[in-house]
Amino acid sequence: MLIIGPPGSGKGTQAERISARLGVVAISTGDIFRAHVEGASPLGVKAKKYMDSGDFVPDSVTNKMVRDRLSQSDVSGGFLLDGYPRTAAQVDYLDEVLAEACQKLDAVLQLTTEDEELVTRLLRRAKETGRSDDTETVIRHRLDLYHEQTEAVVARYAERGILTTVDGMGSVDEVTNRAVLAGPRQLSRD
Ligand code: AMP
Repeated sequence: MLIIGPPGSGKGTQAERISARLGVVAISTGDIFRAHVEGASPLGVKAKKYMDSGDFVPDSVTNKMVRDRLSQSDVSGGFLLDGYPRTAAQVDYLDEVLAEACQKLDAVLQLTTEDEELVTRLLRRAKETGRSDDTETVIRHRLDLYHEQTEAVVARYAERGILTTVDGMGSVDEVTNRAVLAGPRQLSRD
């Protein structure tokens, strides 16, 4: 399963809850990049300048990282990808990786939230966590990229008939409940 939403839509929090419900591993490309930046690995050094300016890390780098992560043994029972794919080229790449592994996507969940609410939330988060990509200019750039590139990704999954869109406004519990009610049937099993 995939979870897609603009920055600040709460997709990381929902990904944790939903993956726990499904009993699958949650994989956040943003978290993997941040861990590499923190550890100053060669990948982290490469990714940092893109992340700090709110740009996408190049597809070649991101795709390879995702391929490596999806080849690990803990994903054999399924996975929830958070923050990937974000570009059309990443959609094609993920299709290839999954086809090679004889796997397929069951569901894609999109969280929607108004831009101004996202900016408010992210500026609040900046005060709490000091994330270097949570300044207003960078936040607005990340939102623009979402509209310019990632909405086209969402459209691809809508065409395939596997997309559920859920309103991301409201409390964390409200959004989880909406996802459980509207999302793939595996989510509503107790
Ligand atoms: P996130 O925590 O998902 O907002 O991701 C933080 C940052 O990591 C993004 O602003 C990008 O710089 C980078 N990133 C995460 N996922 C991707 C991706 N799928 N493609 C390119 N860059 C990514």
